[in-house]
Amino acid sequence: MSFDSFALDKRIMAGVTSAGYVSPTPIQIQAIPPLLAGHDLLGLAQTGTGKTAAFVLPILQKLLGLDLRDHKAARVLVLAPTRELALQIHENFTALGCKTGIRSAAVYGGVNQVPQVKNLRQATVVVACPGRLLDLMNQGLADLSQVDTLVLDEADRMLDMGFAPDIRRIVSRLTGKRQTMLFSATMPAQIRNLTREYLLDPVEVKAESSGQVEAISHVFYPVPAHLKGGLLEELLRVTDHKSLLVFTRTKHRAKSLSRKLESKGFASTFLQGNMSQNQRQEAMTGFRSGRYKIMVATDIASRGIDCDRISHVINFDMPDTAESYTHRIGRTGRARRSGEALSLITSEDAEQVRAVERILGESVERKKLGGFDYSAPGRAQSRTKPVRAASRKTSTSNTRIFMDRQDSRA
Ligand code: AMP
Repeated sequence: MSFDSFALDKRIMAGVTSAGYVSPTPIQIQAIPPLLAGHDLLGLAQTGTGKTAAFVLPILQKLLGLDLRDHKAARVLVLAPTRELALQIHENFTALGCKTGIRSAAVYGGVNQVPQVKNLRQATVVVACPGRLLDLMNQGLADLSQVDTLVLDEADRMLDMGFAPDIRRIVSRLTGKRQTMLFSATMPAQIRNLTREYLLDPVEVKAESSGQVEAISHVFYPVPAHLKGGLLEELLRVTDHKSLLVFTRTKHRAKSLSRKLESKGFASTFLQGNMSQNQRQEAMTGFRSGRYKIMVATDIASRGIDCDRISHVINFDMPDTAESYTHRIGRTGRARRSGEALSLITSEDAEQVRAVERILGESVERKKLGGFDYSAPGRAQSRTKPVRAASRKTSTSNTRIFMDRQDSRA
């Protein structure tokens, strides 16, 4: 199937071509026609399936059909859980709409609001995190009175992050008839409720698992907790990676693990919730450009990381839920490229391991890294003890625990 079958305006097709898209992904094939026909839509899809373009393209088409010459206010509102995701969606509108003259503005907290308000005044599409948008609305600085298209992206994450009341307040101010789309990676009861509240007779679409999950191979590395740091280091040395994302459970650990890796000669950076917007952007730009081959991140900070080059995701700490696992590995194998998901599992992770295998519908291969000393004692019994791996030039210590376990959650 090709993009031609959607009969999109040629200015939009120019954007599709310059983005390098050749054929639509499964979610795009399912979602674009009903959206073009004006239906509401419920999309069960995670990041990495091409879901952003699945709503951006029909929205651009709809906007080109309107007379926007005298427009004074936004027509499209996209709500997203994090600034990274908001920026990524905004960039998608800008890239795919590069020949349409349609302007998009990104609105998110943690930065000066003045430039955002200026952009907002000229934008037809507003991509916003709920908190900052509500702030601007309360100051009378965001006019949503003309919005007739609403997208709730990564709705499950927005609810997880406690945005439900903000979303409700924002949506209550949208008056008049509108087309609404809701995308979510999971479909818990609260999302079903939100769907009933905001969507009218929606068409339901679901990203096929082959769009993403099957492109990724999963491996578990059982390891005693005190050897996780050493095993990670060894895995990084033997894994042929382009860009690699490492997940930790806590903010403190993301930072200290990254620093530790840097001190061992790895080009590493980190992303966690305590960073300023400038620090985040510096880290993301460095990671996207390949200056840093490794990024260590927490779950929340990682939402919306859009980097085509990620070849591996390593769970240094197993996530608390199987849904988080799915979100994490959604960072690799993006748009049907292949990727690898490696997880360091300890005896404490038995429950999460079972939940992940349930959601994948298969048991995951357990591997032992050859040449790694799994019997090395912990720090209490011995300080560092170098282990020389056969056929590897670099010796490394595998007995250090990188971090303690008590730091705060991300
Ligand atoms: P998303 O799921 O929207 O975050 O998209 C994941 C990645 O796939 C992004 O880097 C998109 O630019 C890319 N992408 C989206 N649609 C296509 C397509 N039809 N062909 C190739 N890449 C795509």
